[in-house]
Amino acid sequence: GFRCGIVGLPNVGKSTLFNALTETAAAQAANYPFCTIEPNVGQVAVPDPRLDQLAEIAKSAKKIETQLAFVDIAGLVRGASKGEGLGNQFLANIREVDAIVHVLRCFEDGDVTHVEGKVDPIADAETVETELMLADLESLEKRVPNLVKRGQAGDKESKIAAAVLGQALELLREGKPARLTQPKDEEERRHFDQAQLLTSKPVLYVCNVDEGDASEGNALSARVFEKAKAEGAEAVVVSAAIEAEIATLDPEERQAFLADLGLAETGLARVIRAGYALLHLITFFTAGPKEARAWTVHKGDKAPQAAGAIHTDFERGFIRAETIAFDDYVKYGGEAGAREAGKLRQEGKDYVVQDGDVMLFRFNV
Ligand code: GDP
Repeated sequence: GFRCGIVGLPNVGKSTLFNALTETAAAQAANYPFCTIEPNVGQVAVPDPRLDQLAEIAKSAKKIETQLAFVDIAGLVRGASKGEGLGNQFLANIREVDAIVHVLRCFEDGDVTHVEGKVDPIADAETVETELMLADLESLEKRVPNLVKRGQAGDKESKIAAAVLGQALELLREGKPARLTQPKDEEERRHFDQAQLLTSKPVLYVCNVDEGDASEGNALSARVFEKAKAEGAEAVVVSAAIEAEIATLDPEERQAFLADLGLAETGLARVIRAGYALLHLITFFTAGPKEARAWTVHKGDKAPQAAGAIHTDFERGFIRAETIAFDDYVKYGGEAGAREAGKLRQEGKDYVVQDGDVMLFRFNV
């Protein structure tokens, strides 16, 4: 599955957000740095109103959302790249995630200690980024010279890796993240991805604001949005404290509570969706009387890979995919109507799956 790692300085609201996300009290939030030591992993359902529509049309007995994993990664402090605090563990955990959800404290609260002494989300973001850049810099300072040597000795793969990672190293030396590297072809791209640099992962900034700022954000979150825009990153405003409260309510109470705060949906729904977009993921559906279900694939994946998301046998024995675009499925009242209207397409192994496709796979066993 796909994993988003929640990072940030101590006391910015990571655990509160993670707990709300997973609706568990397992990772207890506490006003104390280092309270969560081991990474906690939570599988989170991706909210998608289209699934409700499909289930209603197909008269499905149940609905199954697709999921995204969130990992609460604690332990980042200034000096992490030097192995201070829980630095090494932190960096190892971050290496294993596909995207970074960076929580920034955009709330003032005299009772909650700020590790750097004042509330400044931009400075906090830079502290975290600096640690990640230093860690990448240190690892590339060791690896690139070796790759260059092996490349000069005639190893073709090392030569390609040396070129692309050399470019990343130059950027890091200038204080820029590795994600600005531009691999010149697929081979370089492959080596770059394999290097799993910390600063090559996509970033979503979560501005954690006080309850009163949850709908509009505040001056601090506005600065984070500017920063995100300049970097090509994403940002959302969330009040982790509100989300934690909402997580304890049942669905009807939830709607009323949100309406009172002037919110259309939970901040968590926005975080989950932004995480999904950050990873370039799309959803396709299967729908029948037994269940309506959402599945995740990468944007650009082809029909057999979508089949493989359901079962490896489906991918191996793939023959074709009977596909209906979501809008057609709704417009023609389901599979039979869409088929009659000529909107059920027979797609082969080169078909690129589109977000919202309702699919049925034909395969050999
Ligand atoms: P972590 O160290 O980043 O995981 O931070 P926690 O989630 O443990 O939160 C640290 C403290 O800040 C806890 O006492 C939380 O209750 C508090 N906190 C978290 N989010 C908010 C918020 O939006 N507003 C206020 N006032 N306090 C918050």
